[in-house]
Amino acid sequence: MQPREFAIGEAELEALRLAARAARPREACGLLLGRREGARVVVERVVVARNVAQDVERFEVDPRDHLQAQRDARDAGLDVVGAWHSHVHGPATPSVSDAREALPGWVHAIVDTVSGEARAWYAGAEGLRELARVG
Ligand SMILES: [Zn+2]
Repeated sequence: MQPREFAIGEAELEALRLAARAARPREACGLLLGRREGARVVVERVVVARNVAQDVERFEVDPRDHLQAQRDARDAGLDVVGAWHSHVHGPATPSVSDAREALPGWVHAIVDTVSGEARAWYAGAEGLRELARVG
């Protein structure tokens, strides 16, 4: 079953917004730890990673941070369910390269650094599909 909903707490969202503002003029990025519950992806924890992309308008999670996040998830009984990154000038929608590079089976959350809006997409067989945010 493909996920249709995305649950994340206000505190976690605020952590993403803060990291997005702190990273300017670069994009912030990281991983989402949580679990699948049927059609819902529940994010329990957010990880802020180093962005090792050369281009200022791109992001690439530092592989060391990715490994650490996998260990932390395992220790906490969670999975790495997705990734997040910021758009320095908004909007919180996937760019062409975001859509092309989205890892299948993952949630991809995007934070608009200007407005603080956060939206999330699931990368399935037919490309990215937006998830409805629930509590
Ligand atoms: Zn992007």
